Amino acid sequence: MKTNFSEEQIKDPDNKASENILRKCVHCGFCNATCPTYKLLGDELDGPRGRIYLIQDMLEKNKPANEKIVKHIDRCLSCYSCMTTCPSGVNYMHLIDHGRNHIEKTYKRPFKDRITRAFLSKVLPKPFNFKLIVILTKFLKPIRFIFSKKINEMISLMPDRLPKQSLPKMKLYKIKKGKKPVARVALLTGCVQRVLSPQINEATIRLLNRHGIEVVVPKEIECCGSLNHHLGKKILANESFKKNILIWYDEYIKNGLDAIISNTSGCGTTLKDYEFMFRSDKEFKKKAKKISELTRDVAEYLDENIKLNFIKQNKNQKKYKIAYHSACSMQHGQKIHKQPIDLIRKTGNQIFEIPDGHLCCGSAGTYNLLQNNIAKKLLKDKVFNIEKINPEFITTGNIGCITQISNGTKIPILHTVEIIDWYTGGPKPEALKDL
Ligand code: SF4
Ligand code: SF4
Repeated sequence: MKTNFSEEQIKDPDNKASENILRKCVHCGFCNATCPTYKLLGDELDGPRGRIYLIQDMLEKNKPANEKIVKHIDRCLSCYSCMTTCPSGVNYMHLIDHGRNHIEKTYKRPFKDRITRAFLSKVLPKPFNFKLIVILTKFLKPIRFIFSKKINEMISLMPDRLPKQSLPKMKLYKIKKGKKPVARVALLTGCVQRVLSPQINEATIRLLNRHGIEVVVPKEIECCGSLNHHLGKKILANESFKKNILIWYDEYIKNGLDAIISNTSGCGTTLKDYEFMFRSDKEFKKKAKKISELTRDVAEYLDENIKLNFIKQNKNQKKYKIAYHSACSMQHGQKIHKQPIDLIRKTGNQIFEIPDGHLCCGSAGTYNLLQNNIAKKLLKDKVFNIEKINPEFITTGNIGCITQISNGTKIPILHTVEIIDWYTGGPKPEALKDL
């Protein structure tokens, strides 16, 4: 695609990066075919090619965003299905991130919108704040009809109760006494995940420890920064990015780290992108690159590095029919697909991929809260496709998808690492207690 940035504009590293991305796009529109919002809404501007035009126009002309542009950019899920489809290697992720930052800088959203987004950006990335809100909304649920439709729906998405933690909170989870660790990793326990589903982190720690891997969980690390990043709140996101980079890099230098494990694919995608985000920052460039290089999704790490000790199953052992939901951030963001499926297959159960599995379930970070109508339609389609398989349970590698899909079906859903933990000597997951 021909671009028209001035020499002055190109001095800005973000404009330079976007120009390189835009030049790769040949307008073919193949990406529209796999875009969930284009499929649903049928509007060119609700597909990747249309959004690329909108972003190019804003950036080149350095013009402020307007209501129309914001509407179509906000409807993008950041699912990156378009990136998997694009034959020209257009990095839509970096382009839309730049577009969102430009919107945040140049557009004044309506009051209600600003309040909602400010609220989400202050509450979700802070586990303490999020816990408080969950407790508060429990009392508001019976009278939620007094609020606006959006707030009412947000309240209804909050859980009624929070699960108890079974592992004590520690900075270092050592392996059994007298044994030498085979590796040392840091675990990102996540902001929302540690509150909603602490069992995912507990299963990860147990599983890694059982296989001789020491696990560090620096307590100062809360959010990976992606919640604010996707809201276009660059300053707040950068605070999280920089804090995390400094803490993990310090740990890497002082005590050694073989990997940084993410068990939420949305966060893993962002961690792997720290290198790009800080490419022009003299102070953080080298450190951010190291953090991205060390980052592995838990399924990727187990598949690449660990010979898992699966418990021998006897012939009469029940074999479950499992549906695997490939989170967008896993399959499109990190290009990890085969590894979790292979791991589950090793448990001896039957695993099935969901038809139209490349399409998003509508979770997408805060999307199901901000774009509730589209998210609901995507969820309905996802559940319809899951039910075609008629599985006994569903598994995936992203807390957002677990929360979203569980709002649409009674079929139990759990994180893949919980299954692997169970089949290598851990407890049966709570989600499967009735099976
Ligand atoms: S990221 Fe997803 S929703 Fe956004 S344009 Fe690409 S395919 Fe469409
Ligand atoms: S598939 Fe790639 S090259 Fe074609 S329009 Fe979409 S982004 Fe551009």
